[in-house]
Amino acid sequence: MRYLILSDIHANLTALEAVLNSAKGRWKKAVCLGDLVGYGPDPDAVVDAVRKLGAITIRGNHDKAVGDILHADTFNPAAQLALFWTREHLSAKNLKYIEALPPGPLSVDSFSLVHGAFHDEDEYVFAPEQALDGLLSSPTQIAFFGHTHLQGGFALRGETLSVLATRPVSGKTSHDLIIERDAKYLLNPGSVGQPRDDDPRAAFAIADLDQNRVEFWRVPYDIEAVQARMIEANLPQRLIARLAYGH
Ligand code: ZN
Repeated sequence: MRYLILSDIHANLTALEAVLNSAKGRWKKAVCLGDLVGYGPDPDAVVDAVRKLGAITIRGNHDKAVGDILHADTFNPAAQLALFWTREHLSAKNLKYIEALPPGPLSVDSFSLVHGAFHDEDEYVFAPEQALDGLLSSPTQIAFFGHTHLQGGFALRGETLSVLATRPVSGKTSHDLIIERDAKYLLNPGSVGQPRDDDPRAAFAIADLDQNRVEFWRVPYDIEAVQARMIEANLPQRLIARLAYGH
């Protein structure tokens, strides 16, 4: 089975469309690791698109905040402004959908999904020691996580933990990671709608479990078109600017 792995779309429909175009015909089922909304100008259209994909989806911290499950005070001022704007631009049916998203970790087929960490869905997993926690907690060989907006991952072979270089270098659109039978993996497909790893291209992954391979992808999209909609919507300048440099 081939899975499309999406995370942190953040209401960026143009980036999501570029991802779906590039991934066309390459996957059978889709999963989403949360943060469908927040920051970007297209919350309602993105939720519609994810629902149309039939993606198995868990909630992210922005989804929780929009649904008032997480308090807005936990966000920085720009994220808070975007949150209040998002609440006003979601249809009642899509708000209900967001509110009902399940938390991670969630097992799907032979892998797990989590937005942040295994013991705390809102924790950012940056450091190897945090990843080790997840690798040991995961009931499956492969777990996918999001939240940091950094494409990459960690592997545990025996007692050896390694940080994986999975990002396609500039000029390349994909990088293949071969899954070794005796290792466990904690993998981040990167953010579709607001990458923060200095590569502004939309990020996603395709997991081919029969071939023991995870493909990490980066695709360009029309960033200026998204920025124009954000200016129109009066969203915070910092959120608009960061899309162009991917940080
Ligand atoms: Zn996010």
